[in-house]
Amino acid sequence: MLFTHDTESALGFVVALADTVPEASESGADELATQADLVRLLDTWGYSGRRDGDAAELAEVRAARDRLRAVWALDRDGTAAEANAILEESQAVPRLVRHDGLDWHIHAVGFDAPLAERILVEGAMALVDVVRADRVDRLRACEADDCAGVFVDLSKNGSKRFCSTRCGNRMAVRAYRARAAD
Ligand SMILES: [Zn+2]
Ligand SMILES: [Zn+2]
Repeated sequence: MLFTHDTESALGFVVALADTVPEASESGADELATQADLVRLLDTWGYSGRRDGDAAELAEVRAARDRLRAVWALDRDGTAAEANAILEESQAVPRLVRHDGLDWHIHAVGFDAPLAERILVEGAMALVDVVRADRVDRLRACEADDCAGVFVDLSKNGSKRFCSTRCGNRMAVRAYRARAAD
């Protein structure tokens, strides 16, 4: 494992959120367009804590999506600066918590904080680990030319190239056809 379990699951959620944009989603549609979309994403990831279920919350989460997605374009120093900025803005205070059958792990913001703020802070805490471990190179963009997906390469040798097997298979088929056409 490259990171602790809670960091890896936080990164997994950030990626799932970031890849709801139409350029990256499996459906080709914006998969965070409605409150139902948001509920589905949160439930899939077992996301705990406060949910307002209103339009303001959805708009804030969509803004958080853009902000976290933009981290993939940053270098290590830029990633550190952005993580710090998020933690500073929410006056994050790390503490150990145990909830919902999960063993001790870190939360830097309370369960009652707005959803988008919790998403940003949890993402920032995971980025802290990525920067400290000098693994910012593992925050990768999908190499499929028709996909803007992002992913975290958690493989041992860091050889993952695509955001999903869907993209990997599609590019393999295309490469095969190109060879066959020669
Ligand atoms: Zn937790
Ligand atoms: Zn992809």
